[in-house]
Amino acid sequence: MKYFILFGPPGAGKGTQAAKMKEKYSLRHISTGDLLRKEIAEETELGKMAKSLTDNGNLVPDEIVIGMIRNVLDSDRTAKGFLLDGFPRTEAQAVALDRMLKERGSEVTSVLSLMIDDDEVVRRIKKRAEIENRADDADEATIRNRVRTYHEKTEPVINHYKSTGKYNEVNGTGSIEEVFGTLCGIIDRL
Ligand code: ADP
Repeated sequence: MKYFILFGPPGAGKGTQAAKMKEKYSLRHISTGDLLRKEIAEETELGKMAKSLTDNGNLVPDEIVIGMIRNVLDSDRTAKGFLLDGFPRTEAQAVALDRMLKERGSEVTSVLSLMIDDDEVVRRIKKRAEIENRADDADEATIRNRVRTYHEKTEPVINHYKSTGKYNEVNGTGSIEEVFGTLCGIIDRL
């Protein structure tokens, strides 16, 4: 079983690339952002709690997202592999993921990290706000808070994987096809 992590700041293009990777490599795509938005839309207890946090650009508690990931890993035994998008987003989540995969006799296959700078993040998210209707894309203060949260809590996760030799950085500023080509090059060499 293969476990890919698509990593990067908000707006780096994780969702776009995940859709293409899922198709090409028959992976089960797990986006914690999508799972949370579904809970919010359905107004579940979890969704109500997540809404105020995500609307302000803050992270949802680790235990919640770790539980969500565990449920999906348990529920799908037919996938050829999993593509994690938006998880892990903190060191504690990375540690929990290592443990969950170890319990399954497995480990992270590869971390694919899409790199774009902060100004590009803000530019892209503002553009996305014109097309999609995400509450957390709506105003610049929230976007800036997401960028800050990324640097404080999520970026350190890079160090968690760097020493494993499975960490790959990809320039996220090319065209969708260019970025996808680079990602496929890495996956095909594995
Ligand atoms: P982004 O475009 O910021 O990468 P996502 O769609 O991945 O957005 O996630 C939207 C929001 O959902 C995040 O800003 C955060 O509040 C919450 N979220 C998603 N994944 C996680 C996670 N692994 N841990 C905590 N919160 C998360």
